[in-house]
Amino acid sequence: MSKKRFYITTAIDYVNQKPHLGTAYEKIGADCMARYKRLCGFETHFVMGNDEHSTNVEREARKRDMEPLDYCRIMSEEFTGTWKKLNISYDDFIHTTEKRHEKAVSCLFTRIHENGYIYKGKYEGLYCESCEEFISEKDLVDGLCPSHKQAPKSISEENYFFALSKFEKPLLDHIEKNPGFIRPKTRANEVLNVIKSGLHDVSISRAGVAWGIPLPIDPGHVVYVWFDALTNYISALDYGGEESGAFEKYWPADFHVIGKDITRFHCVIWPSMLMAAGVELPKSVFAHGFISLAGEKMSKSRGNILDPAKMAAVFGADPLRYLLMREVPFDKDGDISVDILVNRYNADLANELGNLSSRTLAMISKYLGGNIDEAPFDSRNDLYEDLATALDGYRENMENLEFSRALGAFWTVIQRANRYIEEKSPWVLAKDESKKEELKAVFRELLAVLRSSAVVLSPFMPERMKELSGQLGQDGLSLDDLPPKSCAAVKISQPSPLFPRIQEDPEDIFKD
Ligand SMILES: [Zn+2]
Repeated sequence: MSKKRFYITTAIDYVNQKPHLGTAYEKIGADCMARYKRLCGFETHFVMGNDEHSTNVEREARKRDMEPLDYCRIMSEEFTGTWKKLNISYDDFIHTTEKRHEKAVSCLFTRIHENGYIYKGKYEGLYCESCEEFISEKDLVDGLCPSHKQAPKSISEENYFFALSKFEKPLLDHIEKNPGFIRPKTRANEVLNVIKSGLHDVSISRAGVAWGIPLPIDPGHVVYVWFDALTNYISALDYGGEESGAFEKYWPADFHVIGKDITRFHCVIWPSMLMAAGVELPKSVFAHGFISLAGEKMSKSRGNILDPAKMAAVFGADPLRYLLMREVPFDKDGDISVDILVNRYNADLANELGNLSSRTLAMISKYLGGNIDEAPFDSRNDLYEDLATALDGYRENMENLEFSRALGAFWTVIQRANRYIEEKSPWVLAKDESKKEELKAVFRELLAVLRSSAVVLSPFMPERMKELSGQLGQDGLSLDDLPPKSCAAVKISQPSPLFPRIQEDPEDIFKD
């Protein structure tokens, strides 16, 4: 039997500005899912990348008196450097200026053309260069693009068009037959409304632009940047290129993780392109919500963009990952502030999880010399039953990328375990030699919770949970082994704290 596989992607980013917290939020969410699937034993392929063929990118490069490609290389370092600081575990990183990508775009374009879905026509209308999108008069606010507050360019050029209108019915059928194709449900409904209001053919080339991939059928044009960018999901699998077998192995993708603002491209245009080329559609597109900061949208003009690398330096990469995923449900919008993050860090990580592990391990060391012999659990162990329930809640929500709920479900047993220590008062049991077996049983249950924590929280906090595993003297536990059937302890010593309390006033944290 072949191994079960899982292919997950994120949106690729324009490199005309540094990655911000919103971008990081998407990558962290996808990374948690990729790590979770690896934990479940899937052969996982996680792809991220940079979108380089944008007029915005070319303009930024020229502003610096640089060649676009040189600028892209520098920005690539910037992006991958940030992802490294956030413990993002992608397996491949695609740049749209790579040869393998150009090959895939040419191949996909040619197949769609051969199948009769591309024709030459004239585009007359407006184009917002910041959106890299054709925009209609009715979408303008005071004559300006509502997202960029800038006037669109008026364009009149010969273009090649993609017959998107032909896919109205097939798309509706596909979405109806595959309820999980667009997630969450609210986004699916929005997309259905867009399709039902009628699809128009779209221009997929630009004339007189040099920065891009030349059209295979007419080198005087380049491929429109969105057509180019969307293809990254298969170019990273060598579609139309090397016979690496990656495409056959991993396509169709299990999840495209994207922001809710680009569902039209991913849930309407991309599946239509694939249908036109006779390529299977991705199984699911997951559109996450946005993070706002203290009630305000983060934007350059407001000057309230949080730098994820700087935040990772303050909280630690792992705690930052946990805090974002816990605080903002992945399928919804959510508001954060430095106050909220510091409070949650101190409550969940320093007090609840951190204390649970340091108290438990310190007491095992003090009262039992760090050793407990192995014994199986039976149904009378009530904390153990709560652990099983928490694990069920965790698994169910993780499968749906509901990270906040998954963590919430698991946290019930961490809180329960802290109360359990108070109820059982090991410090009292330890004074009575006849209660030694009872004392060991209490610690076995607490250890079961900690061992489970080190596994199920590892997609969120890979390094800290590795540290916890080390303190517990465990390795090689997989999700399938949970809850553990029995527990023992060997040479446990007083550990150093996993999550030292943050003492600073949140107001002072980001002051330089
Ligand atoms: Zn715009």
